[in-house]
Amino acid sequence: MRRSAAVLAALAAVVAPGAVAATAAPPASAQGLADDTAAWVGSVLRVPAEARPLVANAHDAPGAAAWVRCGEPVVYARPWVVRELGEMARGDLYSSEAARILLHETLHRTDCHRLPTEHDRDVEEWAVDALAYDLLPAWSARFTGWRIRVYPPSGGYAEGVRAIRAASRFATGSLSWRGRRARLWRRQLVLADVATRRAMLADANRRREWSRR
Ligand SMILES: [Zn+2]
Repeated sequence: MRRSAAVLAALAAVVAPGAVAATAAPPASAQGLADDTAAWVGSVLRVPAEARPLVANAHDAPGAAAWVRCGEPVVYARPWVVRELGEMARGDLYSSEAARILLHETLHRTDCHRLPTEHDRDVEEWAVDALAYDLLPAWSARFTGWRIRVYPPSGGYAEGVRAIRAASRFATGSLSWRGRRARLWRRQLVLADVATRRAMLADANRRREWSRR
């Protein structure tokens, strides 16, 4: 856990303007959910957990609901996302959108400097979003008692998620993207380094071409 006092103070200032830090209970609950989610993702993917302060930000990154910056161990999110996560942490709300956003940002690693090209960065977003959808039912069962299932992807990466699902189906010779091997392939894609990701996608493309012959 890396909650710095400065970041928490910024969180309180943005989420509850004019309030003292002691009154920032909802974001603290959202932070608890974010920390628990980071630990859960770490255990599910068998990678070191990357707990990060969740900082409400109403101004930067126009068009984004949440985002991370390379090398900065912070998750930025719109105030509505932080508010809904706080409500979810208290069991007052089930927001598949806020849950997917939290999973998506948690799945990004802080060492994203390793993504050299724009395409590599696109693949990162698509693969991470596809895995966030994959993990949503198990995450929601663990943290809300409900199983949130969202099969048709929505949001800015919907087309990319569909492409990753199709690639996983071709790469594994599966009938459906929902099959176990296709799911594992998507998980491996997120965990892979850049060279391996490129090889995995090239292999999927080759198999897709063969399937058309
Ligand atoms: Zn992202």
